[in-house]
Amino acid sequence: MIGAGTAGCALAAALRLRGWSGSITLLEIGRGPGGRTATRRSRRDPNFALNHGAPLFNISTSPEPRLLEPLRQGGWIAPFNGALASLDGEGRLGTAQPDPLSSGALWQGSPQMDGLCRGLLALAQQHGPTTLQSGTLVRALEPRSDGRCWQLYGSEGQPLLECSWLVLSGTLLAHPRCQTVFGWPEVPLQQAATQLGEQQLCTAATALSQIESTASSNLLLNLGEPAAAAWRQQLWRLLQFTAAAQERWGIRRVSLQPMASGRWGVVVESSAAFAERHLQVYGSRSSAAQVLGAAPAPEAEAQVIKALDRNLQLALGLSTAGADRQLMRWGAAFPQPPGLPPELSLCPDSRIGFCGDAIAGLGFGRVEGALRSAEALAERLLPLLRSGA
Ligand SMILES: Cc1cc2nc3c(=O)[nH]c(=O)nc-3n(C[C@H](O)[C@H](O)[C@H](O)COP(=O)(O)OP(=O)(O)OC[C@H]3O[C@@H](n4cnc5c(N)ncnc54)[C@H](O)[C@@H]3O)c2cc1C
Repeated sequence: MIGAGTAGCALAAALRLRGWSGSITLLEIGRGPGGRTATRRSRRDPNFALNHGAPLFNISTSPEPRLLEPLRQGGWIAPFNGALASLDGEGRLGTAQPDPLSSGALWQGSPQMDGLCRGLLALAQQHGPTTLQSGTLVRALEPRSDGRCWQLYGSEGQPLLECSWLVLSGTLLAHPRCQTVFGWPEVPLQQAATQLGEQQLCTAATALSQIESTASSNLLLNLGEPAAAAWRQQLWRLLQFTAAAQERWGIRRVSLQPMASGRWGVVVESSAAFAERHLQVYGSRSSAAQVLGAAPAPEAEAQVIKALDRNLQLALGLSTAGADRQLMRWGAAFPQPPGLPPELSLCPDSRIGFCGDAIAGLGFGRVEGALRSAEALAERLLPLLRSGA
């Protein structure tokens, strides 16, 4: 499986819940599981833990995904424990606005957002050999000529893994943005599809390559105890900016996150328009810079940080003096419709499947969609795995 975000980890857990005990390996670029529900940690500071992607998730429709109950039982998720509020274009606080990210039941990973993926992996590991290989970029996919397995290669062209079934839980290897980000001459999935020449896979690869996404430039603030005092007193923990407020300040949402030792984190999510204007600025401590070797641009980064920081203070009238500041740019934060038609999420003749929030259906573009797509794929994949087809 490529990717240990919500969908990859959920697929492993969903296969186990349905009785599959064969070997599962997850290959993940990041330092640990989580993907866009990851929690940023620090090697130097054990108390630092900030949810720099999704700060919560919502389940909008019942029945809820089956995986939720064992996650709750294991203490890996808990009801979201903060109040939501909104800010309008005049800087006035108001009640929370209905939006796709906050309808239905609200949950958070426990104790941090990455508890969600850690819990899913733990569920998978209880019932069969499940290996997470983190810090591993899959660079190329090669279907073997007998059509019975896939060979995966790393960034130096080294063989990583041979597997009888392959699942892509992220769209990176299927999308032309990998050419822009890494300068690769080809899109790996399209190359593999052309090599195999199988119709369904070719259609799926084309559909995945056409999925557009909006970006998010996130400012991460780490506030010590005295500086955090005014923030701690806010009645909200998640603040939505209305359309007018987004236009005025370039901010979409702000979350307040308590950390150990009395410190607080503030995560400022930019508007899609702001992120689009600063798409080339990654953030020197982001995984794009560290794992993918993207060139740092300290001046441009300082300007983006300054702009978001200034607008935050203007919008809320709260000071950020003394905060440690970092930038995290999510190049593909939210996929845009229509997404991959669910019937293309499994290509049995090519022994490949797809899951993640880019699969069309309930919860599209959200954690709910990542969970539901994984459960749906597990349901379809299991009979094929059992029959050894
Ligand atoms: C700032 C932000 C705020 C958000 N807020 C919310 C919210 O409030 N509510 C909500 O429901 N959703 C929210 N989302 C969306 C939510 O995070 C995603 O819908 C969900 O996490 C998607 O999970 P996924 O497993 O499909 O994809 P991902 O989490 O992206 O997982 C894919 C994984 O695959 C890995 N990967 C990709 N290519 C390779 C490769 N070639 N080799 C190795 N590894 C690879 C990636 O590193 C990644 O970990 C937010 C997202 C962002 C960025």
